[in-house]
Amino acid sequence: MRGHVELADDVHQLTVQTGVNVVVLRDDDGVTLVDTGLDRPGLTARLARLGIAPSEVTRVLLTHAHPDHTGGVHRLRRSGSRASVAIGADDLDVGRGLAEPPAPEHLGGRLLSRLPAPGAWGHAPAVTDATALEDGQRLPIAGGLEVVATPGHTVGHVAFHLPARNVVIGGDVVFNVFSLRPSPAFLCWRTAPNLASVARLAALGATTLALAHGQPVTDDVAGRLSQLIADS
Ligand SMILES: [Zn+2]
Repeated sequence: MRGHVELADDVHQLTVQTGVNVVVLRDDDGVTLVDTGLDRPGLTARLARLGIAPSEVTRVLLTHAHPDHTGGVHRLRRSGSRASVAIGADDLDVGRGLAEPPAPEHLGGRLLSRLPAPGAWGHAPAVTDATALEDGQRLPIAGGLEVVATPGHTVGHVAFHLPARNVVIGGDVVFNVFSLRPSPAFLCWRTAPNLASVARLAALGATTLALAHGQPVTDDVAGRLSQLIADS
């Protein structure tokens, strides 16, 4: 199936809209989604191709509070999912619709944030019942999932490490759209902490890096991430 990569046992990267991926984690007691894509069609049809009904999705973990990650939550719930939703503690108020994101450092980012519909991504409904994820928190998903604080793209961006599967789900810390590179400055809250987050991902030693934008990295993850830092 196009737009589908099996990263490890029961760990799938799925492209749900053009250039936008989610990760699907299957366990005996239900399906966890990491991110949900835009508030546009695509997610439930893509899940159906993996044989997953919305009602089977019991948990959503969000890497950060941007509309191309949070946008599918309401559509999923309208389709019959009763999934709980969690997001990094420092992105929680933005994700719940209680606060505006802090101003980005880059001029392009500040201009983008003032547009009524930021960039091509549009808006997403707030997830008012989202709960907070803390750095180092462990969840009984996919053989054990660890929350890794990776601020920079947003204040509260988090990645998810699956040591038992040798996979890290990196969200928007790096993009692999034209080439592998750190999250572009005009899309970042701050680039310096994002670069530190690239280093943090490299240090995890995973052999597969899933990304929200672009193909996963499956060769020399630590070496390629370290090279990005050296080139910056
Ligand atoms: Zn994104």
